[in-house]
Amino acid sequence: MFKRLLTPGPTQVRPEILKELATPQIHHRAPEFSELYGAIQPKLQQLLYTENPVLLFTSSSTGAMEAAVTNLVAKRCLNLVNGAFSKRWHEITVGNGVPCDAYELPWNVAVKPEMVDEQLAAGAYDAVTLVFNETSTGMMNPLREIAEVVAGYPDVFLLVDAVSGMAGAKIETDAWKLDFVLAGVQKAFALPAGLAVAAVSERALARANDVPPRSYYFSLPKMHKSHLKNQTPSTPAIPHMYALDAQLDDMLAEGLEARFARHAKMAGIVQAWSKRHFDIYPENGYWSQTLTCIENTRGIDVAALIKTLADDYNVRISNGYGDIKGKTFRIAHMGDTQVDEIEGLLKVIETVLEL
Ligand SMILES: *Cc1c(COP(=O)(O)O)cnc(C)c1O
Repeated sequence: MFKRLLTPGPTQVRPEILKELATPQIHHRAPEFSELYGAIQPKLQQLLYTENPVLLFTSSSTGAMEAAVTNLVAKRCLNLVNGAFSKRWHEITVGNGVPCDAYELPWNVAVKPEMVDEQLAAGAYDAVTLVFNETSTGMMNPLREIAEVVAGYPDVFLLVDAVSGMAGAKIETDAWKLDFVLAGVQKAFALPAGLAVAAVSERALARANDVPPRSYYFSLPKMHKSHLKNQTPSTPAIPHMYALDAQLDDMLAEGLEARFARHAKMAGIVQAWSKRHFDIYPENGYWSQTLTCIENTRGIDVAALIKTLADDYNVRISNGYGDIKGKTFRIAHMGDTQVDEIEGLLKVIETVLEL
């Protein structure tokens, strides 16, 4: 039996979008492919409030994270770490032999603009990685304010993992001067995993041309060269692109502001419920708009709750991540999930836990 996914990735995909994956195969060097690629592009730019190219990666988000640090660091990278995915980005940077340092915070503490300022002041870095929405902790770092600080350092590029935030929260790529902002599509896009997207600034593309190549598959200059012909350097996940195209149409039909407002509304409901019955893991003021990480203040058996929800109610939520497994659990309110589903889930949890 298939479970409804209220997990912070992968998320539930609507049947009409799944059908798009069965579109007859086309050739990736044929004009119909370039038409599809060209149709997707302006919609992605709209979603990301950008005129920058939005490149398509046939990989999960991790591939685009790797592309960012292998292409865009000429000198040294600062990895801001306050959760599992920001820690992963540091590991990716180290793993690729890119000079870097981690600035580590406790997982329930948000990255603050003044901390970034202090780290950049000595002039050691020319790139900073930040996870906008830490899916492991339900933390939304203050991207706009951090971007403002980074913009004060003209040689420093801001590389943003917006994986579980993009398409659920507003990201104004150009206004905030983000150099690289990436996401995989299996989170707030509500698509099957297999594609990632990234908006890349002009100056980032220029630097990628100068940095000695560290990656072949994830070469931004190669990807951009193909992009200009509405193509990809190697064979992409074409079925996923049909699904992405259809999903972007539906997002724009809902209206971006309405979509973000729906996410904010669901977040407000889950947050209020969590405060009433438990507590919320990240510090106040930085709670995510797309998922809530609930602190298990009642000492419930989280694994048992998840199993009961899956077995008896056909809905799946997530345990805490890594070190905070069992001490926290996570409810996603992202993608195409609606307010009434979230309210239904909370009622069911109340029943199960006899709250
Ligand atoms: C899910 C996630 C990732 C990793 O994504 P994959 O698509 O599994 O590679 C990275 N960063 C964040 C914030 C995520 O939520």
